[in-house]
Amino acid sequence: MKLETSILSLTGVGPKMAEKLKRLGIENIRDLLFYFPRSWDDFSKPRKIASLRINEDVIIKAKIFQIKQNRTRRRWMSIIEALLVDDSGEIKAIWFNQPFLMNVLKPGEEWLFAGKVNWDYQKKQKTLTVTQYENPSADGPVILSVYPEIEGLTSKFLRRLIKPLLTAKSDTPGVSEKWFGDYLPDWIINLENLIDLNTAIKNIHFPIKTIDIEVAKKRLAFDELFLIGLKMLVIKKELQKSLAPKMEIFKKDLKKFTSSLPFKLTNAQRKTAWEIIQDLNKKIPMNRLLEGDVGSGKTVVAAMAVLSAAKNNFQSVWLAPTEILANQHYINISKLLKSFKIKVGLLTSANKKADLKNDDLIIGTHAILQKDVHISNLGLIIIDEQHRFGVKQRAHLRQSTDHRLPSTDENSCGCRSSVVGKQIIPHLLSMTATPIPRTLALSVYGDLDLSIINEMPVGRQKVLTKVINAHNRDRAYRHIREQIRKGRQGFVICPLIKPKDVIKINLFDADRKSAVKEYEKLSKEIFPDLRIGLMHGKMKSKEKDETMKKFTTGKIDILVSTAVVEVGIDIANATVMMIESAERFGLAQLHQFRGRVGRGEHQSYCFLFAEAWSENTKQRLNAMVTCHNGFELAEKDLEIRGPGELSGLRQSGLPDLKMASLSDTILIKKARSAAEGIIKDGIEKYPKLQEKLAELVGERHLE
Ligand code: ADP
Ligand code: MG
Repeated sequence: MKLETSILSLTGVGPKMAEKLKRLGIENIRDLLFYFPRSWDDFSKPRKIASLRINEDVIIKAKIFQIKQNRTRRRWMSIIEALLVDDSGEIKAIWFNQPFLMNVLKPGEEWLFAGKVNWDYQKKQKTLTVTQYENPSADGPVILSVYPEIEGLTSKFLRRLIKPLLTAKSDTPGVSEKWFGDYLPDWIINLENLIDLNTAIKNIHFPIKTIDIEVAKKRLAFDELFLIGLKMLVIKKELQKSLAPKMEIFKKDLKKFTSSLPFKLTNAQRKTAWEIIQDLNKKIPMNRLLEGDVGSGKTVVAAMAVLSAAKNNFQSVWLAPTEILANQHYINISKLLKSFKIKVGLLTSANKKADLKNDDLIIGTHAILQKDVHISNLGLIIIDEQHRFGVKQRAHLRQSTDHRLPSTDENSCGCRSSVVGKQIIPHLLSMTATPIPRTLALSVYGDLDLSIINEMPVGRQKVLTKVINAHNRDRAYRHIREQIRKGRQGFVICPLIKPKDVIKINLFDADRKSAVKEYEKLSKEIFPDLRIGLMHGKMKSKEKDETMKKFTTGKIDILVSTAVVEVGIDIANATVMMIESAERFGLAQLHQFRGRVGRGEHQSYCFLFAEAWSENTKQRLNAMVTCHNGFELAEKDLEIRGPGELSGLRQSGLPDLKMASLSDTILIKKARSAAEGIIKDGIEKYPKLQEKLAELVGERHLE
C-alpha cells in the first residue's frame, strides 16, 4: 500500500462510498491522511448539565432516563428523543434520522455525549443536538476528532478508515506509522521546535492529550506556510536569472504626463510609480504587486509604466478581469495617453480592435491569453485586479509572448549586444484592491515585490453608508430619486440574475434578490419615469457594451446589476450604491461595490438591504457603516468570522490552507525566514526538500 493507493482498496470503501469521499477531495491514502479534523471532542472533561448555555458545543456524561422514536408528520424523518440526567440536572437530547440508535442507547445506561445546546422555542427549554456519543468505559481515546462531514459520511466512519493506516502493528503490507519521509532539515525542526511529520499526522487524527493537537497543528501549519513560501522564493530566484528589456527612464515625458492630469498625484502614487519605473530600468524581469484600496488611483500609476515601455519601443498588455472593465480602460487610458501618440488596441472575445503588431498597448480580457495571440515585442504585462488570474495563466501569458530580442540595433535595451537571440521575459505588474496584509503577501506572494498605495486622493468624501430596514425602503427610494433629480446616477446590486425556481432550490437561496426581477419592479412600479438599465453576466457582449456606454454617458439613471460591476468600474457621476441581499456578499466584496461610488466631487451614499438577519449579518453590515478602509474592514471581517478565513482572499488566488491560519503572522514570518534560510544555503543542499517541491508543483494550492 502506498500514498497513491486508491481508497477503493480500503476495507469498507465501495464505489458508492468512494464517490462520497471524492466529494471531500479524498481519492487516495495521501488525501485521506491529509483530510484533517475540523475540531476535537474531549470526552475526558464532561460538563455538568446545569451549567450548559445555549449555542455552546459541549460534552456531558449522563444517564439515559428515557428514549423514544418519533416520526415527523409526513414520516420522512425519524427523530429520536432522550431525556439525559446527571447529578446537576436534565436535558432533552435529539437525533435526526438515526433510527438504529434505538438499539444502541438503552435506558439506564451512562454515556458520553457531544453536541450543541439549542433552545426549543415551543417548549421553552434547552435541548442537546447530539453529534457524537461514546461509551465511557471503552478504553479507546477520550479525544475524538470531528471531520468536516457530508451527508452519509460520519466522523466515526472516517476515524475507522484512518485508524488502521496509522497503526504500527497493522498486518497490511506497506502500512506503518511512517508514511512520510521528513523533508524538513534538522536545523529548522530544532529551531522551530517542531515534531516530526509522521507523529503530527498521527496526532492530528488520534490525539491522546489536548497538547498533542496543538503540537501537531503547529507542525502541519508550519509546513504549509513554509512550502508555499519556499516555492515562491524558488520561482523568484529562477526569474532573476532571466533577462528582461531594460527600459530607459524618460523623465521629461513622465513629467509631461503627470502635469497633463486634472489632479495632482498623491505621494503614494508618486512613490509606487517610481518603484515601478526603476524596476523597468533593470534587466531582470519586474514581478511586482501594486496594492491599493478601491479608488486609490492605481490606473494612472500603471499608465505611467505603459508610457515608459512605449517610449522604449516596447509593447504592453493590460489584462482586465471583465469585458466591461476592459472597455472602460480602453476609453479612459486612450484618453490619458492621447497626447503621447500611443496606439491603444482592444482585444476581448467580442471586440477585436487591436493591431497586435503595431499597437503600443493592447487592453483586453483573457481573450489575450488565447494560443493564436502573439505579441512580438512585448515588454510589459499589467494585470488589473490580479486575483482573477491565477499564477498558471500568468505563466502562460509569458510563455505565449516570450520573444527573442531583435538582433537589430533599433531599440534601447541596454543588454542588447551580449544577448542577441536569448529569450527575453517581459516585466509584470499585478494590481489589486484586495487588502492582503504585508506579512502574508510577502510569504504567499513571495515571488512578487510589493508596492502599496496607502493614501487616497485628497478631497475624497466618505461614502455615507446605511443599513436600511425593510420599512424604510420607500425612504431610500425617495433619496435615490432626489439624487437623480440633481443629475446624479445610481447602482442597484443583486446577488442573482434571475429569480430561482423556488421548488428546486434550498432554503438558503429562497430569499435572494435577482437583478431581472428588481429591474422589472423598479422600471414598472418604483421609478416608471426614470431610465433604468439592466446588467448581468448572461447578457450578450454587445448588450453589455451598449448598456455600459449609456450609463457612462448619462443616458441611464439607475443601473440594476449583478456582481459583474464589482471591480474597477469608474463612473464619477454615480452617487448611490444600493445593495440588495447584502448578507449574501462578503465584506471585501461589499467594500468593492461601495468603491463604485464616491469617485467624483459629490457626496455619495451606500444603502445596504438584507433579507435575512443574523447576529453575524448585523455585525458585518455595521462594520461597513463605521469602517471605510479596506484593510481595517478585512481585519474586522477576521474578528467577526474568527481566524482562519479572511474573506475576499479566497478569490484572490491565495492557497487553500488546511491548517495554517492566514492571520497567524508570527508563524507566517517564521516559515518565511526558514524558507529564506534554505535559499541562502542553496536548495541543492536539500535534496529531500527539492523532491517535495517538485511533487507539489502539480498540486492545486500551489498553482
Ligand atoms: P483604482 O485604484 O480603484 O483602480 P482608479 O485608478 O480607477 O482607482 O481611480 C479612481 C478615480 O480617481 C479615477 O477617476 C481617477 O481619475 C481618480 N484619481 C486617480 N488619482 C487621483 C488623484 N491623485 N487625485 C484625484 N483623483 C485621482
Ligand atoms: Mg482599478
